[in-house]
Amino acid sequence: MGPRSTREPRCYHWSVLRLTQPSPWEGLAPPRTNLAPRLHVNTGASCNNNCVFCAEDDREGRTRLVGSQSPDDLRRILAAFPCREHVCFTTGEPTLNPLLPWLIRTAREYGYQEIALITNGRRLSDPAYLARLVDAGLDLLTVSIHGGDARLHDGLTRTPGAFAQTVRALRNAAPWVRLHTSTVITQRNLRRLRPLLTVLGRVGVQQAVLNVVKPRGRAAQRAEMLLPRYRDVSLTVASVLAGLGRASPPVFVEDVPMCATEDLPDVVRGVLEHNLRFDRVEHEGSRRYEEFDRARTEGGLRTKRAACAACRYDTACPGVWTRYLEVHGWDGLDPVERRYAGTVETSF
Ligand code: SF4
Repeated sequence: MGPRSTREPRCYHWSVLRLTQPSPWEGLAPPRTNLAPRLHVNTGASCNNNCVFCAEDDREGRTRLVGSQSPDDLRRILAAFPCREHVCFTTGEPTLNPLLPWLIRTAREYGYQEIALITNGRRLSDPAYLARLVDAGLDLLTVSIHGGDARLHDGLTRTPGAFAQTVRALRNAAPWVRLHTSTVITQRNLRRLRPLLTVLGRVGVQQAVLNVVKPRGRAAQRAEMLLPRYRDVSLTVASVLAGLGRASPPVFVEDVPMCATEDLPDVVRGVLEHNLRFDRVEHEGSRRYEEFDRARTEGGLRTKRAACAACRYDTACPGVWTRYLEVHGWDGLDPVERRYAGTVETSF
């Protein structure tokens, strides 16, 4: 077993230290947000889907770096992270990495309290493989699903048969783990959210995250075709949720500027998690792992305008994707009035 009990105080102080610096989350913390840093571990670069909106921009480069990680590299990342609350195995498709059951078991031995996997779910349509992961210690599964029928999902993933396997995986997993989903919202599936959320409600999904497509990698090249207007996303989700009620799992909308989401209840919008990952970096002939947070991976790809300074979300907001602005401009992205924070004096 790893040194479990001694790590928790470090995690606490590390989190507090992080969060007392100018906080990128201030004002964006709905009740369900867990601001403790979550470790994301990249398990490889290959994938058995071929999504039209994939945000990977340099799969070959990632294959060289991430794909050549040794088991010892991965174990050292798990051992070095001071906060043992949550670890998530992710990108490319983690179930293609034969080390995955060992990684989950190792994370459990190091004392991680919640062990999660982000996957397209296809391999989990095999109950025996799912059982291996659950036996190793998996307790939270986030399955990527992008449409409520085979035509839409298989079209967006460009993988015939993917929908049937992914839905089978959701059904297999529901009795054994906490079950979340992640859906990339594009122009093609925005108007067809209702059937998707109905399917997810039926198979026992406990939380559905709707991520608006990030215009980077392949998605940047097809931004005109893929990117919906943020205000359309907000209005459509509000209307679908009002119509579905409890037939839908709880929904959370991500990757939309807060100024475009005023139609949504606070519990549905904002920042869901704070995650960090460590990538191997080649530097002057030596290799080392460096921390990549959102600012580092998305910095330079987002823009603000002068009017943003008057917005109540200005401190927290990372800005709007520059590629989005090239397609849709600032229409519908107006500063939100600041709430009054002082004292009101009255006289009679
Ligand atoms: S700071 Fe600008 S982009 Fe961000 S939420 Fe406010 S108006 Fe929108």
